[in-house]
Amino acid sequence: MSQWFVDRVAIVTGGASGIGLAVASKLLSLGVQLAVVDRDGSALQGAFGGVDKVLKIEADVSDRIQVERYVSTCLDRFGRIDMFHNNAGLLGPRAPLLDFTDEDYHSLFDVNVLGSLLGLQAVAKAMKASSGGSIVNTASAVGLRSVADHGLYGATKATVLRITQQAAAELGQFNIRVNAVAPGSVDTPALRSSLKGTSEDGGEVDRRVSRQLRKRPLGLPITADDVADLVLWLLGPASSKITGSINVIDGGVLT
Ligand code: NAD
Repeated sequence: MSQWFVDRVAIVTGGASGIGLAVASKLLSLGVQLAVVDRDGSALQGAFGGVDKVLKIEADVSDRIQVERYVSTCLDRFGRIDMFHNNAGLLGPRAPLLDFTDEDYHSLFDVNVLGSLLGLQAVAKAMKASSGGSIVNTASAVGLRSVADHGLYGATKATVLRITQQAAAELGQFNIRVNAVAPGSVDTPALRSSLKGTSEDGGEVDRRVSRQLRKRPLGLPITADDVADLVLWLLGPASSKITGSINVIDGGVLT
């Protein structure tokens, strides 16, 4: 199965950190021709600066022009796109629904919903023009149930789940599969910054992260690598009959 990945072409958005970085690193180790997109240019350089064969594209996924540019840059370099991990997203800010501002709304929906939709549109058009492909959207378990102070974030991820199923229904005829992963809490820079709140005490942040990660029947933390293994399975040939699926990876919280 790992031979299947050699020389295929993938784009990972939000690939400079956390879950996207874990996916990009695994794809690279399997011999995939890889484009990594992130709006944080220095994090991109920090993660892949020494790896010439990785196409590093600094772009904001919520801007249509920049999305079209990252897709065309990838096509110019590699000629096609076989796999797309549509992953860039924001967790914060945390607040009860009654306290969210218009600014909070736009920052979350622009990146998590519009960014995801623009990427899906541009990449699926390129896949449709070749022989198809596989797309994995990063949603969240919070898109499936309410979690205190995460109402707006949950609404963005519920929308990503709905878009995933709609896209799967529309694009199957073009041999394009579209699936979603819905992780529970994963220890990434985004989770740490969201749990940090106003605390400047590193030990306190560690304790909050570890409390958050223990809240699950399996009692085991989910790592970015765990999510990456699931994403690779969905991108690759082992899941060739699966589309429109929502894959929760949360250690059993949603049971
Ligand atoms: P992270 O902050 O570690 O990584 C996200 C990356 O996305 C960063 O490098 C950031 O620069 C980039 N990014 C953010 N906005 C962008 C934009 N507009 N354009 C381009 N790049 C942008 O976060 P993470 O925890 O790895 O999150 C990745 C995805 O996983 C997100 O969609 C998040 O909602 C989702 N998720 C995370 C968790 C968790 O607990 N960490 C749980 C469920 C879902």
